[in-house]
Amino acid sequence: MEKKQSLHRQGIILAAADAQVKVLEEKNCDLLPFSKKVAESGTGPLLAAGIDILQINIGYTCNLLCRHCHVDAGPDRKEMMTRQTMQECLNALDKSAIKTIDITGGAPEMNPEFRWFIERIRITKADATILVRSNLTLLTDIEKYRDLPEFFKQQRITLIASLPCYIREDVDHMRGEGVFDHSIKALKLLNSLGYGVEKSALELNLVYNPEGPSLPGSQQQLEQEYRKRLFEDHGILFSHLYTITNMPISRFLNDLLENGHYCKYMTLLAENYNALSVQNLMCRTTVSVGWDGTLYDCDFNQMLHLPLVKSAPQHISKFNEAILSNRRIIVGQHCYGCTAGAGSSCHGSLL
Ligand code: SF4
Ligand code: SF4
Repeated sequence: MEKKQSLHRQGIILAAADAQVKVLEEKNCDLLPFSKKVAESGTGPLLAAGIDILQINIGYTCNLLCRHCHVDAGPDRKEMMTRQTMQECLNALDKSAIKTIDITGGAPEMNPEFRWFIERIRITKADATILVRSNLTLLTDIEKYRDLPEFFKQQRITLIASLPCYIREDVDHMRGEGVFDHSIKALKLLNSLGYGVEKSALELNLVYNPEGPSLPGSQQQLEQEYRKRLFEDHGILFSHLYTITNMPISRFLNDLLENGHYCKYMTLLAENYNALSVQNLMCRTTVSVGWDGTLYDCDFNQMLHLPLVKSAPQHISKFNEAILSNRRIIVGQHCYGCTAGAGSSCHGSLL
């Protein structure tokens, strides 16, 4: 599977984070700066409103190379959180009131300290909701990860699994050949353990994102469609579907630029700006931790290397809940991706 995806990657020109920020700032497509748009609608400047979620990116390595990936993750990425930085995250959690820990990557399971870290989080925060974002394929495709579903169950992990469509050809086109079949196999395995099954406490949430430069449809309607098709075609059950708008970052940004769709897409996002979504933006209640412990307002700002406002602590070792809970959020043109239509976040639509 990996070889074919490497070939697929050859057509992609990857831009460094600072070059991406430059494109977003300079190629403005006659749009208002996002900060002005927010101010104009009476909801700016954007401020944090506490910290409900600590989202921890434990590494950019992934066995896949999805076309839409905002992390630019892949088998060749070596950035990986160390046990020491994980310990700093645990120290921060220990003294905080945070109740949800969201473990992401890359494929977070590929960090050799993954199981150690999950076990320690569970000890540190016995009642916390621990989310793991899995691409599913690892769970059935690679031998050493095959016992992870049992581990997830033991640790009461809530799973968030990407499945951008219920049609094999579409998924394989976006994520690589064979991905759909491995995902279906993994979902069946998880169902057999009680994940996603009605009345089970083991949540299995799926993530949809559009294939191209368009907005996702209604989350509610798509969830119904997914439920019907996945059950009728494969006997699969799941808890919820999250729809996520493709962010103009990394590979998706490159795709937009290469295909001449950049301004069209940014205009679509801006024309669908929804002021009601602003109060619910995930950055208002989340802090994102990078693989090296650097703090960001969200995973998207992390990928653009946009640090927190200077008055806030910059590293997890300096975690200060009170200051972080009231920080000003750093925004850019990519933020239009979070406020379009029903709004978008790592937990689906905002409205
Ligand atoms: S979208 Fe997820 S599964 Fe795909 S390459 Fe990125 S991190 Fe890996
Ligand atoms: S991209 Fe990040 S900072 Fe910008 S609105 Fe979305 S969540 Fe907030």
